[in-house]
Amino acid sequence: MTAAMRREVGDVKELGVFNPYDGSLVGRVAVTPADAIDVLLARARDGAAAARSLPRHRRATILETAAQQIDATCEDFARTIVREAGKTIAQARKETLRCINTLKLSADEARRNAGEIVPFDAYAGSEARQGWFTREPLGIIAAITPYNDPLNLVAHKLGPAIAGGNAVLLKPSELAPFSALKLVETLIAAGLPESVITVAVGGADLGHAIVSARPVRMVSFTGGFATGEAITRAAGLKKLAMDLGGNAPVIVMADCDLDKAVAACISGAYWAAGQNCIGTQRILVQAGCYDRFRDAFVAGTKKLRAGDPELEGTDVGPMISVSAAEKAEAAVDAAHARGARILCGHWRAGALYHPTILEAVPRDDRLWREEVFAPVVVLERFETLDEAIGMANEPDYSLHAGIFTGNLAHALAAADGIEAGGVMINDSSDYRFDAMPFGGFKHGSMGREGVRFAYEDMTQPKVVCINRT
Ligand code: NAD
Repeated sequence: MTAAMRREVGDVKELGVFNPYDGSLVGRVAVTPADAIDVLLARARDGAAAARSLPRHRRATILETAAQQIDATCEDFARTIVREAGKTIAQARKETLRCINTLKLSADEARRNAGEIVPFDAYAGSEARQGWFTREPLGIIAAITPYNDPLNLVAHKLGPAIAGGNAVLLKPSELAPFSALKLVETLIAAGLPESVITVAVGGADLGHAIVSARPVRMVSFTGGFATGEAITRAAGLKKLAMDLGGNAPVIVMADCDLDKAVAACISGAYWAAGQNCIGTQRILVQAGCYDRFRDAFVAGTKKLRAGDPELEGTDVGPMISVSAAEKAEAAVDAAHARGARILCGHWRAGALYHPTILEAVPRDDRLWREEVFAPVVVLERFETLDEAIGMANEPDYSLHAGIFTGNLAHALAAADGIEAGGVMINDSSDYRFDAMPFGGFKHGSMGREGVRFAYEDMTQPKVVCINRT
């Protein structure tokens, strides 16, 4: 919150942000009360005018300069992610590098994607017309983001919005706001007019006030299903982009390179302590290799070092909070009480929940049907690929899936049959490239991120047509 905003908002409360690993205070941040919405909107209106008047080369240069600055201070950004979100330092460095790439891709979009010629003479009747469409800004976009990728998921909204000439009302997760604040500071230092991004930190009441405000033209939300539904109810007539949860399946065929599948599934399942929307949650293994896969997967999981995320050798850091870890533990206890077998892990120290593998989980259990968002994996055996595809598709929402196979026909049958926004072949579900279209299938999914796709969602075509007669 800027000094001017503080004066207009009056008494400002502060929120403590705590390190999920050791509970230490990371810092304090000013909370914007929900009733300050008019102040936020007034600033965002100024921001919208400033943003649309920036020529495309300026938008691109600002995004590139910010990317260079983040590159130069990469370690500092990575440490911020570790302290507030609990990712391991290696994972946080990777997120920072991805953020740099997201900003660079956004700069490319600002320069490249300005509209198209409309071929009026392609069908009879309009030969005397000539024209084009431009990509115009929407105006004010609300960006609401979660805690688990507190830097790059914010860049995925700010980058395309700036490239498209929009102002943004950003509400980062109140659990991990500092990476977002650093990103905004960096963009402003790179030349972005201050009013283009209005950051407000707070909880659900503030989020509700932002998404329901009439001048907001689009809500770009990343987070959980319940929040997505609440936003949808409150938003009214505006564009919605919803990037919600997952419960990703990976199919392991007996004809695959098993060592590769085991290593990829270990990374895919426990990255960010399983707090990853495309993290591998269900691994479906063909009967012919089930025992071999399970033994190697359990052995590999047991070797992971869980602990202090700031240490270079740590593989699995804490979950975001003790209560999140307790919920994961309770979900595993409940499945166990219904007959599931726990193969490893399932012990907790504060927010640190050790990687846990189960088999024989009932297919109506929440570990099978819903997103667990924790380092918890369910193994299940199948006989035929058709059966595995049917199992993969059981939840009524999905983001990504994976298949390991040495057989091209199997790979293509899975790509065709799995209902998901992305099917990774010979990779776990946890592969994402920031330029690809990214989003879900089935219930609740709306829109795609991935810079070009978000940019197109955040702009509106305007046709200019010349009548030559
Ligand atoms: P969350 O839904 O609890 O919170 C996300 C954001 O919404 C936060 O900023 C929160 O303050 C805000 N919010 C809460 N209530 C609101 C309301 N009523 N109106 C407006 N805003 C409100 O999610 P989380 O726990 O921070 O993140 C985890 C979830 O995010 C998981 O379900 C995960 O799968 C999902 N996620 C999805 C993607 C994707 O790209 N599909 C990526 C990362 C995370």
